[in-house]
Amino acid sequence: MTTSVHSRPRTVALIVAAGRGARVGGDVPKQYRMAAGAPILRHTVQAFLRHPAVAGVRVVIHPDDHDRYAGASFGLDLLPPVHGGATRQQSVLRGLESLEAEAPDFVLIHDAARPLVDPGLIDRVLAALSSPGCAGAIAALPMADTLKRADAAGRIGGTLGRDGLWRAQTPQGFRFEEILAAHRRAGTEGRADFTDDAAVAEAAGLAVALVQGSEDNFKITTEQDLARAAASLRGDTETRTGTGFDVHAFEPGDAVMLCGVRVPFDRKLKGHSDADVAIHAAVDAILGAVGAGDIGAHFPPSDPRWRAAPSALFLARAAEILAERGAALVNLDLTIICEAPRIGPHRDAMIARLADILAVKPSRIAVKATTTEGLGFTGRGEGIAAHAVATVKAPATGGE
Ligand code: MG
Repeated sequence: MTTSVHSRPRTVALIVAAGRGARVGGDVPKQYRMAAGAPILRHTVQAFLRHPAVAGVRVVIHPDDHDRYAGASFGLDLLPPVHGGATRQQSVLRGLESLEAEAPDFVLIHDAARPLVDPGLIDRVLAALSSPGCAGAIAALPMADTLKRADAAGRIGGTLGRDGLWRAQTPQGFRFEEILAAHRRAGTEGRADFTDDAAVAEAAGLAVALVQGSEDNFKITTEQDLARAAASLRGDTETRTGTGFDVHAFEPGDAVMLCGVRVPFDRKLKGHSDADVAIHAAVDAILGAVGAGDIGAHFPPSDPRWRAAPSALFLARAAEILAERGAALVNLDLTIICEAPRIGPHRDAMIARLADILAVKPSRIAVKATTTEGLGFTGRGEGIAAHAVATVKAPATGGE
């Protein structure tokens, strides 16, 4: 261990780019595919070059990729590349051995196909690595989905508990001497089946910490991943619009729910949930803007969970669906159509309530009311209709 307590540990990044990327179509290995005007590998390398704690970056390449590498790394201040081996594990070992002369304190091993690694994530890995007793620290995400084991027929053979399970990402940071020794030992023992470096470290009995990774730090595997990465790297967004319309009939009661606000009235709206016709229109507009189906698909009236449910739940879920797609609400414009009750006295409260549920500023929300001059079902006072338009900013989907 050579880390001095008086100076900052010296960190080198080792980018593993020797794979053939057979899962993404085309002749060009995925790390050399273009995204946002540059090869993926260049974006990945630059993420580490830009980080103030990283003193040097070395790329492990396939022997056939010299020309591609020269193009991808043109003008960048990198350590000379080294050739990888037949497996990822061998490639990392060769990369580590090539760094022996550099003798860094820490090495960050990272997949070339994860170009969206951010500085905060690199910071978290390095911070964990600097803590006493820690030989390694890797980016990882806690498992959110339930895991199923399939049988030979493609049916469920068992369900695994997800408690304590994490998905490993990179960078995986290690004390250099310890991970080099662990890799050499794995090679000497003829073990070539490790799929990441943390597994090599574990086999050597090293303590490896898990630090919070990032959903954006995904590994490009499919064409869809490549398009998503390209849009993120360009910072592309597009503006999308959705509309929603809903009607609920009156029945005997003492108040109607509109925009999450209870409005005293001599009748109520009939419906499975709280029948908040305005929120239902708003939910459909928001879901429509991102092509995420409609309110009936997400909250089927046949599901007893939604009996008498506050419609605020549906709107909050629609906001979550937006966020899951990386989208944000620009504005929501609602029109409530009825002869009565009067909306004006409740308008500010409705806007405030919607803004609260959607976690946006009230200035992004409009609530308007109109009558139909006594015509039609709303004119006859049989019910209330609502129309909504939502505009959102969403990650560009490009040519998909
Ligand atoms: Mg409805």
